[in-house]
Amino acid sequence: MELNVSDIQHFSTGDGPGIRTTVFLKGCNLRCPWCHNPETVSPDPQTLSFGASGVIKTYGVMMSTDEIVRDVCGDAEFYRESGGGVTLSGGEPMLQYRGAAELAEKLAKRGVGTLIDTAGCVPTGHFKAVLPYVSDYYFDIKTASEEKYRRVIGGDLYTVRSNLGFLVRGGASVVARVPFIPGLNDSEEECENIARLIASCGCGKASVLPFHRLGSAKYEALGLEYKYKNTAPPDDGSIASAVRIFKKYLDVNVE
Ligand code: SF4
Repeated sequence: MELNVSDIQHFSTGDGPGIRTTVFLKGCNLRCPWCHNPETVSPDPQTLSFGASGVIKTYGVMMSTDEIVRDVCGDAEFYRESGGGVTLSGGEPMLQYRGAAELAEKLAKRGVGTLIDTAGCVPTGHFKAVLPYVSDYYFDIKTASEEKYRRVIGGDLYTVRSNLGFLVRGGASVVARVPFIPGLNDSEEECENIARLIASCGCGKASVLPFHRLGSAKYEALGLEYKYKNTAPPDDGSIASAVRIFKKYLDVNVE
């Protein structure tokens, strides 16, 4: 089976424990206006030219699961020594759940664990297909408001919530990840509601990911408007205040 791959990054350290290879899959069913990886949203191949630097890079190539296994298993020794593995991110990797399950099964046979980094807005059957081969998940909770989830992000919070509960009940190890976005979810009320939502699904761990503008060059290269280009990252005080609220319900850290 083939997967639509946006990019493969070796020796990544921010996408799970230990030394990892992150396989970014192309295509997403959500439209978060702050998205840090806008080149992964469309399933179509895209070539980006990064103005002043002169760098040109194409994102989006079909790769068989065997090709990906060959690519990522060269670092298997590093995964073993560091407690790392392979992360499937995106985009939304769960849109390509059949290929993701096949890849994770092949990696497991070689002693390499897979972590899936998902926004969770897909039919539960997709998670059923991968759960036998993947026990670690990073699971985005972007807001606790059904209305905002629909209007701003373009998805359905009920589905997200159901899937988080499904994974936890299924015995998966899940870290809920909360992008901390000015104007979206940085009020005390929203933090309280998000923390409660995560805890109510049986998930006890969360990471807060403060908004940053590192993806802005990609928007420019894609010719897309970046709605957050003038938004300042949250200050230390507001992050600390969010963490205090999350701590009432969850084991939390800031990434
Ligand atoms: S779910 Fe992730 S990849 Fe998809 S639009 Fe939102 S931030 Fe971007």
